[in-house]
Amino acid sequence: MPEGNTSPASCSGRMHESILSTVGNTPLVRLPRLETTHGLQAHLALKLEFFNPLGSVKDRIGLAMIEAAEREGLIEPGRSILVEPTSGNTGIALGFVAAAKGYRLIVTMPDGASIERRKMLRLLGVEVELTPAREGMSGAISRAEAIIRSTPHAWMPRQFDNIANPAVHETQTAEEIWRDTGGKVDAVVAGIGTGGTLTGIARALKPRLPNLQIVGVEPAESAVLSGDDPGPHDIQGIGAGFRPSILELDRIDILKRVTERESFAAARLCARSEGLPIGISSGAVLHAMMELAADPCMKGKIIVGIAASFAERYLSTDLFAGL
Ligand code: PMP
Repeated sequence: MPEGNTSPASCSGRMHESILSTVGNTPLVRLPRLETTHGLQAHLALKLEFFNPLGSVKDRIGLAMIEAAEREGLIEPGRSILVEPTSGNTGIALGFVAAAKGYRLIVTMPDGASIERRKMLRLLGVEVELTPAREGMSGAISRAEAIIRSTPHAWMPRQFDNIANPAVHETQTAEEIWRDTGGKVDAVVAGIGTGGTLTGIARALKPRLPNLQIVGVEPAESAVLSGDDPGPHDIQGIGAGFRPSILELDRIDILKRVTERESFAAARLCARSEGLPIGISSGAVLHAMMELAADPCMKGKIIVGIAASFAERYLSTDLFAGL
């Protein structure tokens, strides 16, 4: 298959050309026990993005950003060096795509980032450059910019500004939701990190479903999009502390603030009552979905939430405290 046109998995029972074509087509799963035990008015379904090969929603943009740059002639395997500051799922996503396509990838991250993340990146052959934890993400960003300036053929995906990020959710994630709900969906709830997921879904589905409610979730401890000051929080992957350029805030109908405590509690509840161990930001999403679903005017409506990652990626966090 030529570079630059890996398509997402489109039919089962077929051998894949490489790991890359297994991205996407994640299952949409109802939460029947929670609906009953909590007396919810609406029906809940989670789109399980941890069914992506490296376990998160970011696998979609890892592939999409690299293939968009290939199509534009910006990068080619064996020559280009990819550099991105990220302490999260984006590094792992870029890592498996880089390995599968034969790119060198350098990820910069604060040295406070969890050990399982660092080791996973190194296992994928990614070069990890640690910056002082006290400098936070801005230290990692400065280091990545310095590498870009001093390295020939270096290219930075820049997930917060890259239009291939919302575009892949518009053409793929949203279409999967449309297909799997048969076009019957009343609200979509997602956490906002770069804003790519929610912006892309809103772009595709709002014109078809004018009454669709697009609900964004941010950490109550750092509700910058709601007008609060940024602050430290433990909901990895959302609440970047600034307004990303690709986020189209005017497409969002409701912004919900969810606390760390509420996120952890909802994630644990989902594991125990549905057998579905979701990550922390997915817990925040589920909490927001349950709040919406408790409203009598949501009776009989269908609420779809994006579960961005799996609980096991957070083994060293408070999600597993006391277990
Ligand atoms: N949850 C997790 C765990 C993530 O890694 C991300 C991506 N940063 C998100 C939610 C939010 O996705 P997006 O960047 O598309 O807003």
